[in-house]
Amino acid sequence: MAFFALPGARVHGREYAQQALEAGASFAVTDVPLYASVQVGKPEHALIAVGRALRERFRGTVLAVGGSSGKTTTKECLAQGLGWPAPEGNLNNAPGLARFFLHLPQAAGAVVELGIDRLLEMAELTYLARPEFAVLTGLGVEHLDGLGSLENVVREESWLLQVSPVRLASTQAAALLGLPEVKTYGLEQGDFQAQEVRFSLKGTRFRFGPHKVTLPYPGVGPTLGALAALAAAEMLGQPLGEVVERLAGLSLPPGRMERLEKGGVIFINDAYNSNPLSFKAGMEFLRTQPGNKWLVLGRMAELGDEAYQHHLEAAHMAALVSPNLIFIGGFAKDQATEVGGVAVETLEEAVQVLQERVRPGDLVYLKASRSVGLERLLTLWPQEE
Ligand code: ATP
Ligand code: MG
Repeated sequence: MAFFALPGARVHGREYAQQALEAGASFAVTDVPLYASVQVGKPEHALIAVGRALRERFRGTVLAVGGSSGKTTTKECLAQGLGWPAPEGNLNNAPGLARFFLHLPQAAGAVVELGIDRLLEMAELTYLARPEFAVLTGLGVEHLDGLGSLENVVREESWLLQVSPVRLASTQAAALLGLPEVKTYGLEQGDFQAQEVRFSLKGTRFRFGPHKVTLPYPGVGPTLGALAALAAAEMLGQPLGEVVERLAGLSLPPGRMERLEKGGVIFINDAYNSNPLSFKAGMEFLRTQPGNKWLVLGRMAELGDEAYQHHLEAAHMAALVSPNLIFIGGFAKDQATEVGGVAVETLEEAVQVLQERVRPGDLVYLKASRSVGLERLLTLWPQEE
């Protein structure tokens, strides 16, 4: 086993190289001279080079998922649906991918997620992953601090399709791209369609050709993810019955349309991340649900100069879903002034407002960017007696 001394947010891995060698690493890759070590300028680049070499030895099909929202959801649907390995959680940058290829056993295929937050990153990621099959989930404003504009997002994300011989995209993404030879998937539209979609709080049912599909998660995101898996299976010639069976037992990482119940109140924790595209997906689901709905809505990060406008539009979309709105963070006051609802500054205040007004059987939906940590509201919620 090798030890790569990578830079971290607080400490650099070089501080641990000696310890790793003593603990049994066969050699270390560091940027300082050390016994039994390979010294390089940037160990993270060395890791990526090794990852790429091992990617070349993988004989299965590498399927890569890109897009502005829903990559992890779709990656999990594809991996679990097709029965292929995938990196855990949200490992979607170059060092994460390289580590995945380091440990990848031979298999019919593997699914990876490619996440970008700066220009040219997609080119680096596709150089490493060399995808044979690309899936593009959707396109919208994301990470504008690094990517700058929607035009740049579209150009960068479209690179994934351009370098992949087999291409699948949501109808929403395909409409922005104008690339030839792209198969599309969508709710009641595209080459591969989810039809008769029925959402409930416990899950989703839809029809895919002759197949009746059930998912243990509600909402647009999981439905599109499952649909991508069914479409890919058909394009790869895999038997669909097995894919349908595996999707019925789908398990997503926390914070993506995750359902919890506390004292009779039903929470949908969709707060892993938020941007205008995934916000809209959340509202489309909520619109279909009956009963009393409470929306706790935090900031969407990295939207550049248009952040204010995007937050007001989001507030208007939310107001069409329910009058019970709790806005939190930077734009909260403006949002509440514009459409009604309550503006709060802290999660504690949000819990207090909810505690006063929510009744058993009500639905509470949580949505904000990762940096808000909105899911902490669940740990602040008083324990049941
Ligand atoms: P990140 O860029 O943080 O890695 P991601 O693209 O991997 O995000 P997910 O983690 O799957 O996306 O989901 C983020 C949010 O987007 C969640 O709220 C999820 O419910 C929603 N979502 C999932 N799939 C889609 C989709 N196809 N379209 C729009 N929103 C989606
Ligand atoms: Mg992700």
